[in-house]
Parts: sequence; C-alpha cells; structure tokens
Amino acid sequence: MMANEPEKIEWQGTIVSIQPRTTVWRYRLDNRTHYHRGYNLFLDGEAQGIKTLFSVAISEKQQMKGIFRIGDEVKGTAWTKMYDVSDYADYYRAGSLKITIRAERTDTTPPPYLIEPPDMATYEWRGARMLSASSYKGKCFQCVWATMAAVEIEYNWGVSKKYRFESFCYGPKSCKFYKMGKPRAVPYKGDGSTYDEGWMDDLCTENRGWDD
Ligand code: SF4
Repeated sequence: MMANEPEKIEWQGTIVSIQPRTTVWRYRLDNRTHYHRGYNLFLDGEAQGIKTLFSVAISEKQQMKGIFRIGDEVKGTAWTKMYDVSDYADYYRAGSLKITIRAERTDTTPPPYLIEPPDMATYEWRGARMLSASSYKGKCFQCVWATMAAVEIEYNWGVSKKYRFESFCYGPKSCKFYKMGKPRAVPYKGDGSTYDEGWMDDLCTENRGWDD
C-alpha cells in the first residue's frame, strides 16, 4: 500500500452530520468484525484554505468533552491521511478543537436520529447491519446510527488484503428508512467471491430486538 506524507492542516465549518468512525475486518463469510474508533464529523466549511464539504475523525474522548452536535460551528487542526483507504474521513488526528458558535438544541422526530451520539460501547453492543449506499448518502446521512466503514478484506491470508468502504446502520431494525441494498461480494484468492447476503447482519445484531 502506498503511503502518503501526512500534513497538518487547519479547518473550520458547520457540522452537518456526526457518525461513528468504524473499521471492519472481513474474512470470507467466516468473520465480519466491526471496530469502533471514535466519531467522524462531517462539515460544511473550509479545509486547507478551500471551501468544501469535508470530514474529520475525532476521538471518543474529544466528543465526550465537546458534546458536538449538528449545527455547531467548530474549528481545529487535523492531519491528512497516511493511507487513503484506512479511514473514510478526509482528515484524522484532530486537535485544538473549539466550538465558535453553539447550535440551538432542536427536537426532531426520527428517523433519521439526530440525537447526541452514544458512546462506543453502545455501538459495539448494538452491532450493525449492511445499509444501502444510496440510503447512506440520502435519508440516513445525518443519522447517528449510520456509518461508512473502512473495510479490510483478508484476500490471501498473511499475503494480501483488499480495501473498500461500506455503509452500515446501527439503528432500530424496524426503521422505515432501512434498506440493505445488494449482497456484498467477499472475495478470496482462488475461490472467487462469496456474498454477504444478510445473515451476518442477524449475527452482528443478535443482542437486540426489532424495535431496540
Ligand atoms: S436506516 Fe438506520 S441509519 Fe437510516 S435512518 Fe434508519 S436508523 Fe438511521
């Protein structure tokens, strides 16, 4: 994998979504393990001096301290990624976080769930189901239960891996916006592809019922 030279940058913007920052390890249909590493802030503002929509990874500690919410105007520093595929967010290792304007609290009727994001232990306990990419980009984008995970596929054990991004939902199974999307190929060298068709979702979310 090609490494980029990381660069420290400054950014500022208005938060449009907060989602868990997740990675997933896949190995054939034997294993799909989700890791919960903090949060991704999606912002409309300026990064590296350019007006843009961008995202910054922050730690669980930083979120617990700042209790960031949609509408907050925030600024800080961050680093460009060493590996493009390691993180869905554009920047990571955020620092010097400061809320310049605090958003009013607003109550909305879910879905999507525009609530204070829960801690990592809660995401871990809930587990995730595959979420269609179009739902992720559309109605689900602001939901605290939506995530775009950086996925590592064990393609040839100990020799090579494949990388991609996949969207998942940690929300109630009964959510009316939920769509799984197409089954996802999980390739392994010499075996072609097998497809994750949804039964791993049942396994990953077996702790909870239909409305939890
Ligand atoms: S499907 Fe999942 S991510 Fe989308 S709105 Fe419902 S709970 Fe949120």
